[in-house]
Amino acid sequence: MRQGTKTGVFGFAGKYLDKSVDSKMTFNNYLPPKIYTFLVKIAEEHKLSVKEVQRIFLTKVAVDLGFTCDDERIGSAKSDGNPYCKDCWARLRKIIREPYVLGGKWIKNDYHYVKKETFLDEFYQDGQETSKKRKKEMQDKPLDDHTETES
Ligand SMILES: [Zn+2]
Repeated sequence: MRQGTKTGVFGFAGKYLDKSVDSKMTFNNYLPPKIYTFLVKIAEEHKLSVKEVQRIFLTKVAVDLGFTCDDERIGSAKSDGNPYCKDCWARLRKIIREPYVLGGKWIKNDYHYVKKETFLDEFYQDGQETSKKRKKEMQDKPLDDHTETES
């Protein structure tokens, strides 16, 4: 009886709720059902795991509140072999420098890691650009005072 309406309300994510109803499973990740459903939606959109989305959300807020990590302990992910930070689990990208000469010697294998951009970084960058653009539009727009505010 709940199945139909749940699928209707939550769309494709409803199947996750249905599954839990059918198999009498409970979400064991201690997230409220609607938040979880939302995370599933985001995860599917960006082809990530729900855990990864949670990690990205958590890191974003932590960074805003002052969290930093220098990503010094690098591991490679079991799933895809790509580098990640063992301390904050940020996904990393290897930047390999072109060979160059230093003190008469060729330095060939010079590389470092940078944090990979997440969908959240892109979202906030776009957001900032949009709000900057909007702000500029507002400033450029000539003010015709007294037309709307006066009664
Ligand atoms: Zn780190």
